[in-house]
Amino acid sequence: MKDLKEELIEFARKLNSTSLSPLRSGNVSVRVTQDNVEGFFITPSGKKYEDLKPRDIVFISLNEKYDFIKWFNTGLNPSSEWRFHQDIYLNKIEAKAIVHAHSPHATAVSAHRKAIPAFHYMVALAGGDDIKCAEYATFGTSELSQNIIKALQNRKACLMSNHGQVTFGKNLNQAFELAEEVENICHQYINTIKLGKPTILSSVEMNKILEKVKNYKKD
Ligand SMILES: [Zn+2]
Repeated sequence: MKDLKEELIEFARKLNSTSLSPLRSGNVSVRVTQDNVEGFFITPSGKKYEDLKPRDIVFISLNEKYDFIKWFNTGLNPSSEWRFHQDIYLNKIEAKAIVHAHSPHATAVSAHRKAIPAFHYMVALAGGDDIKCAEYATFGTSELSQNIIKALQNRKACLMSNHGQVTFGKNLNQAFELAEEVENICHQYINTIKLGKPTILSSVEMNKILEKVKNYKKD
């Protein structure tokens, strides 16, 4: 099995190479138990992803700040957005990896602080008949975490007002692919509304789609 830190670095670099999150914006994490402590590995702040080494990856435990302070003093700081990663892992047992991106189209839609309705059936990939937008709060705050948790109710992805998007999955690949899908859906949505008000799929139709997606995703 590939080392989890190596895998995390690979996906952090993909944030840049796929233009999902340019420069140093965006971050990725993966759930891990280290020395019997439950927590997660996360990308550090202040270092270009192309220069990342496994030793730069930061471990944060799920039980509050003690470990954070411990790790804080050992070298690189974790991403300044570590808090909502921790809160998602605490609230979503099924979340094994998280991708957060300031992807251009998702960020553009997020600035309007509205959910994306079922203008296309692929919206179902996020887990429901729309993709919600978490209310605005300053980055790094617990208030932002709480807003994200609310928007992620029965969902695996959401937009974040005036900020970007966040997704989770059962591994890094799945979380990353979902972030790419959300970006694509937002791009399509922007084009769609340029032509006027689209027809939205009914909840009956979306329930059918959600059932299909559930079966399709079984592996
Ligand atoms: Zn961010």
